[in-house]
This record gives sequence, structure tokens and C-alpha cells, in this order.
Amino acid sequence: MTDRKMIYLCLAHMSDEGWEQKYVKEAFDTNWVVPLGPNVYGFEEDLKAFVNQRVASLASGDMPTLSPLNKEVVALSAGTAAVHLGLLACGVGQGDEVCVQSFTFCASSHPITYLGATPVFIDSEPTTWNMDPDLLEKAILDRKEKTGKYPKAIVPVALYGMPYNCDRIMAIANKYGIPVLEDAAEGFGSRYKGQVLGTFGRYGVLSFNGNKMITTSGGGALVCDNAELKNKILWYATQAREAYPYYQHEAIGYNYRMSNICAGIGRGQMKIVNDHIAHHKHVQKMYEDLLRDVEGVTVHSAPSPDYDSNYWLCTICLDPALRIQGQENAYKEVITSAVGGAAGVIRAVDSATTDCQPNDNVEALRLFMLDKKVEARPVWKPMHKQPVYRNAPAYVNGVSESIFKVGMCLPAGPYVSDDDVRYIVQCIKEAIIR
Ligand SMILES: *Cc1c(COP(=O)(O)O)cnc(C)c1O
Repeated sequence: MTDRKMIYLCLAHMSDEGWEQKYVKEAFDTNWVVPLGPNVYGFEEDLKAFVNQRVASLASGDMPTLSPLNKEVVALSAGTAAVHLGLLACGVGQGDEVCVQSFTFCASSHPITYLGATPVFIDSEPTTWNMDPDLLEKAILDRKEKTGKYPKAIVPVALYGMPYNCDRIMAIANKYGIPVLEDAAEGFGSRYKGQVLGTFGRYGVLSFNGNKMITTSGGGALVCDNAELKNKILWYATQAREAYPYYQHEAIGYNYRMSNICAGIGRGQMKIVNDHIAHHKHVQKMYEDLLRDVEGVTVHSAPSPDYDSNYWLCTICLDPALRIQGQENAYKEVITSAVGGAAGVIRAVDSATTDCQPNDNVEALRLFMLDKKVEARPVWKPMHKQPVYRNAPAYVNGVSESIFKVGMCLPAGPYVSDDDVRYIVQCIKEAIIR
């Protein structure tokens, strides 16, 4: 037991064949060590083919292939950059409002503030944990009444890979003529009714950070409708340079293009992306089977076969009445080192608690699992409960806040073996006081 290796939530995993290194070496050999080049274009072609394939809805049983879509993809330096440029391309600017899912990682909403706009946070529906369509419509109407303007964009998020209700969100967006920017950073390869996330809205965000479904070490992409829009995004991503022999600028641009080195890693990763997704789904299935009879622990799963999640992270909820070993000591100590495998503490805090935090049994289970060399972490804290957004409008129903108090992410990455899943479930059972 003592020589067990730490099991992390989701670690970067390269192809056995070394494809990533082959493409990176090619970049060095041909001296394309710049933020453009053959790997960038090749990666974009791979991504394009991947997001454009469609199958008939899984709900219909068989899966005949449908005619592919014709979306374009721009490779960028980060998913956060893709959110930023997607918002910009939707026309978001100073004084505007953007409806964004509250239950998300901060990269969905922070770029709204980069543009001088205000996020309007929308709470979740209990089934998918994603943007509640009813609250979205309520918010749109209420903002119009209060400010005289409709929100400039709608940002649903595929939390932990789970698709949002695409039909309803798109219908509401179309009804009011508001563009949708899908944040599919965690949902790369997830599908709704057979169609890949990121291709429903006007723009779609993908992320290839080190912990996502595939990695370029760091990177992202924006999915868009056609070559003209792609060109516009590209222009903004490369400092908005006008076509003169000297640097001439008529708009503010950004340095957001993907490096040809990173894109080489991405091309290699695209050869194993389907294996990664299949593995995450397999791990989810194992958790569902092994935790089915564990009282007080519920595995979060798709509400219907229309929602084909990649299960980037597997998540569970703990009944507040469940008692966990060490629970009386939860939150007694200020965090001084990394929670799990992350980058460590960059800015220390002087308190062990906040006014909105996971229940004691969740914190106790996290610590218990850490002691067993398993990384587990609370689900994302809703943005409308974050101090930095205390003044932002929010339309809430209590769903994301209550899930935050009981939810926990479990390891699901390519390195998590069947044996690891059995061990993790065994540890959870051991932690519960009966
Ligand atoms: C990771 C992530 C992003 C941003 O991606 P980066 O590539 O890390 O910049 C955006 N939104 C969500 C929900 C994410 O989880």
C-alpha cells in the first residue's frame, strides 16, 4: 500500500507510438519554431474533421453517419483566449452584459470582464448541472427590462463534459437573436443528439490544457461557421495587423495564436483522442456499477442517451447525513500546499474557511482520499458565490450552490486503470462510518 503511486484526476497522456514527439521533432527539423506553420494547419484540419462528424442520435439506437457539418477551427494559445476572442467576435464590449453559466471554471466568465462587459450568472438545472434554460429566458427578459438592452451573448458550459440542453438553449437564443458561445473546454468530443459540442452555437470553445481530454501542454481553439469568420478571428489573434509593408493598426488585437510546437503535440494527441474518450466513459461506467449500492453516494450521470458526455471528470454527491472518518477535523488547517496535483499555492490564505464551502464530510473525504494517494477535489464553486463577482447580477435557483456543498470529482484520466477504480471505490467505502 505504501508504494502506491498517486492517482490524479486527469493527467496528460501521450500516444504509445510517440506521435507527439515525431511532429514536434519535425517542427524543429524544419525550423518552424513559431506560432504558425505546418503543425498548426495540420492540427486545425484534424480538429475540423473531428468536430464536423455527426452520427444520428444515440437515443434512436443505431448510429448511421449523417452528412458532416462544415465548421472551421482556429487554433489558439489557450481555451481562455478562445473565450475572449469568441466574445469579441459576438460584439461584446464596454457596458454590455453576457449571460454565462455560473457553475463553471472561472475561464468562462473572466474574459467577459476583460472586455469591460458584465457577466450575468445563470444557475443550473439539476439534471445536467448546466445552464437552466428557464432561468436563462427569465434573465434575458429581466435584463431587457432593467437595462433596456438584451445581453450580447449566451455562454453555456459543458461542466465535466456533460452536454447542456442544446435544443432549448439554442431555441431561446434564436428567439431573442442573441449569439451563443459554447464553452466546450471540458466537453471535447461530447455530443448532444449525435453532434459534437462546440458546433451548435455561433462559436465553440475547446481547450487543450494539460489536464483536459487531450493536451498541447497549453492551448485552445475556437470553432466558427466559415472561412470568413475564421479569418477575422485569426486577425484578432495575431495583433490585428493591416496589410501594409509596415505595422499599421486600426483595431486592438491579441497575441493568441497557437505555437507550431504545441500544435505538433496536438496532432499526435488527435490520433488517440477517441481512445481517451472511450476510457473516460469506461471509468464512469465502472464508478456507476461499483458505487450503485453504496448508500449516501450518488454518481452524476447523463439524464438520457441524447446527452453523450465524454465524462472528462467523474463526479459524485455525498448525502449530508453521511459520516466520514476524520470529519470532526475538517477545515481545521489552512491550506499551505497543493490541493492534489495542481501547481501549488501561489498566494497563501490566512483562513481555513469561507462563507460558502463544501460540507465537512466532503472535505473529510478529500483528506481521507489524499492520505490514500487519491486526488479528489470539490466540484467548481459557482461564480455567483465568488467574492470577485459579488456585484454581478445572478439568476439563481439554489442548484449549483447545493451541488457545490455535496459534490466531489474523482479521477478519470487515461492513467486510471480498472484496478485503480476498484481501489478508489474501496477507499470511499472504508472512509464511510456506518
Ligand atoms: C479549462 C477551461 C477553460 C479554459 O481553458 P484553458 O485552455 O485552460 O485556458 C474554459 N472553460 C472551462 C469550463 C474550462 O474548464
